[in-house]
Amino acid sequence: MQFERIKKETVILNPQKDMAERRIPSEIRIDPLTGRTARICHFMELHWEKPDFQALIAGTESWCPFCGERVLTVTPCFPKDLIPEGRLRKDDMVLFPNIAPYDSLGAVATFGARHYLPMTDFQPEKIASAFSFAQDFFRRIEATGHPESVYHLINWNHMPPAGSSLIHPHLQVFCTSSAPNLMRQELEASKKYLEHHQSSFWEDLVADEKQSNERYLGSIGRSHWMTAFAPLGVAGDVLAVVEDARCVLDLNNQDLMDLATGLVKVMGEYDRMGIYSFNMNFFTGTKNDDHFRFHLLFSPRTFFNQRLGTPDIGAIRNLYNETLCMAFPEEINTLLKQGF
Ligand SMILES: [Zn+2]
Repeated sequence: MQFERIKKETVILNPQKDMAERRIPSEIRIDPLTGRTARICHFMELHWEKPDFQALIAGTESWCPFCGERVLTVTPCFPKDLIPEGRLRKDDMVLFPNIAPYDSLGAVATFGARHYLPMTDFQPEKIASAFSFAQDFFRRIEATGHPESVYHLINWNHMPPAGSSLIHPHLQVFCTSSAPNLMRQELEASKKYLEHHQSSFWEDLVADEKQSNERYLGSIGRSHWMTAFAPLGVAGDVLAVVEDARCVLDLNNQDLMDLATGLVKVMGEYDRMGIYSFNMNFFTGTKNDDHFRFHLLFSPRTFFNQRLGTPDIGAIRNLYNETLCMAFPEEINTLLKQGF
């Protein structure tokens, strides 16, 4: 497996130091599976100021559609042939159709009654239970033989910098026959890799990362945790690959608990950098995709300027789909390893 990087260097004259020459390294990394490129640069420290949460949250509960009785009055219901009871419920969590659907079988699942849960307040049991709740939905849909029951996806946008329009913690849960871009590219490339190398890319990746120990964080049960070689996020990404699991329906309760445990560790470490927001996506094959292994990607999100609300995604990412990461994934690994 090739971890290819193109090293670059910028020379500037620094007016703060009598125009002394300063050399700043950067790198372009090539994702070993898809060939996607990611830029690593060094123009700021991995440290962000958190906002005044009280001011941010103030008043949002009064109109929150997931709070109190509203979650059972204003949220929509599934048609009777799909989910006869309309919405799914488990403990204080509720799952209902997404009012802003981007596919035909989209749902939203709340994490429960609490309106605001800081990243560091999530317990592994809570996350595992929410994932298992989403799996209940997937199994119900799968049992109906629905044509969209192909890929079963969970996405998590936590807090506004990550794209959440609500404070109330929730998951986006959907079934689709149309794999999203990056997942489709991974699926196609994994299939080619297996045909070419007669081995699974994902197993080879775990073995390589474990051996080099530059980006490997550790294993929890069947899940292997590492910082991504070519990250999408400005503060790196954390990747967890589950051994022997091709798809979301292959994950057992212990896997869900192990994934939740790892996420809690990662959240705790990113919190120390001032991060309070993230995206987390499931990447899954179909149940027959022997070339694929289930993995999740955790990507911290932030504002470049908190006061102005400047997002961490600008023109280079939005229109070129070229990513910028503010530190070497190996350095991020050292920061995160303290909690692993
Ligand atoms: Zn709420």
